[in-house]
Amino acid sequence: MESYDVVIVGAGLAGLQSARILAGHGLQVALVDRKPSLDVAVHTTGIFVRQSLEDFAIPSAHLGPAIRHVSIYSPAARRLDLESSQDEFRIGRMGPLYERLLKDCRAAGADWLPGTGFVGCEEEGSSTRVRLRIAGQSRSVTTRFLIGADGTNSRVARRLRLSENRRWIVGLEEVYEGRASGGPPRLHCFFDRRVAPGYIAWIADDGDTVHVGVGGYPQRFQPALALDRFRSTAREVVDLSGALIERRAGRIPVGGILPRLANSRGLLLGDAAGAVSPLTAGGLDPCLRLAELAATAAFRFLSSGDVAELAAYDGRRLRKRYRARRMLRAIYDLAGSNVLLEAGCAALRTGPGRRLAERIFFGRGAFDGATELRSRVPLRDLRPGPT
Ligand SMILES: Cc1cc2nc3c(=O)[nH]c(=O)nc-3n(C[C@H](O)[C@H](O)[C@H](O)COP(=O)(O)OP(=O)(O)OC[C@H]3O[C@@H](n4cnc5c(N)ncnc54)[C@H](O)[C@@H]3O)c2cc1C
Repeated sequence: MESYDVVIVGAGLAGLQSARILAGHGLQVALVDRKPSLDVAVHTTGIFVRQSLEDFAIPSAHLGPAIRHVSIYSPAARRLDLESSQDEFRIGRMGPLYERLLKDCRAAGADWLPGTGFVGCEEEGSSTRVRLRIAGQSRSVTTRFLIGADGTNSRVARRLRLSENRRWIVGLEEVYEGRASGGPPRLHCFFDRRVAPGYIAWIADDGDTVHVGVGGYPQRFQPALALDRFRSTAREVVDLSGALIERRAGRIPVGGILPRLANSRGLLLGDAAGAVSPLTAGGLDPCLRLAELAATAAFRFLSSGDVAELAAYDGRRLRKRYRARRMLRAIYDLAGSNVLLEAGCAALRTGPGRRLAERIFFGRGAFDGATELRSRVPLRDLRPGPT
């Protein structure tokens, strides 16, 4: 049976980032995903925020034009335009971007197991036996450490008895070829309980592609019907005559980062860890930052055998950074009707409201602690321990 230092389940942004870092530092890493290839079944719009673009070397060949303009629409279609003096967002071309990151993982030495489902795992001495399924066949590998980067409903979380997401919204979007609209690239955000109960409907138009989507609590709406309805609103704002390229959908955890993220057998990353802003539902930046933090903690643990090293990756501590966002989400949830939302949007059009909106859309995020840790403990100075 093959044996690895680390098996990572899920080759989304979180799994890819952690696989590259851990393999790059000499660990035997297997990256598994049930998808046959990474350019199918993408479930993110792929909007990267400025802090990710500044702090991580995301290959710019796979990023669309920069976006500086945001428009917010109330339920009665009253519009507030915001403009930043800096490039705030770029939309990733996610299929090619994932493939490029995978190439980096393999170049760093990671084994790639596509079309491979994680079925379960059992303790086997100090290792874990991981049960996989490939093309209908069962296969097992052993690992010293198992990383669950397998999304909102993480099977790894259940098997490792770590925390699980209990609260999520669902998002559904269509991606169209862009048409020159004459205006600058822009994000359009619509507050309307009828099409997006608990979140927003959006149009992300960078000129090359146009994403039209709706999100909300699954108990409160039917995403496909909501998107049908929202498409006609979207046609009044942008040109949707370009070809429909793709449909994307997925669950987005909004309960904040989970408290129990790691134990001596493994840890959770990305959506599996609940690492998504409860307010904006942005999860790509936390994927990148937490992967670095978690990889550092995992590497130190595997090098020393000291489980205390995993304390650096403590969900309870990280969760505190989300406190303000969790509070704003609770307030947003309380605004249960369009009448209240209309009033909230009117407040955003006042001076202080506009500053709050600018802070939410253009401010830096809350994971600076991860950056601090990265600079205190450079990974290149760490060497793997005995396997
Ligand atoms: C419609 C939508 C739009 C979004 N837009 C944005 C945005 O614009 N900007 C932003 O910052 N965030 C956005 N988000 C959130 C963001 O996309 C996620 O937080 C982020 O992509 C999570 O990455 P991940 O690597 O944790 O998980 P994922 O990308 O979900 O990857 C998990 C991987 O695990 C694999 N997997 C799952 N179970 C198994 C198993 N049992 N065996 C093997 N493999 C398995 C899956 O195939 C998948 O490839 C959006 C989310 C949705 C749903």
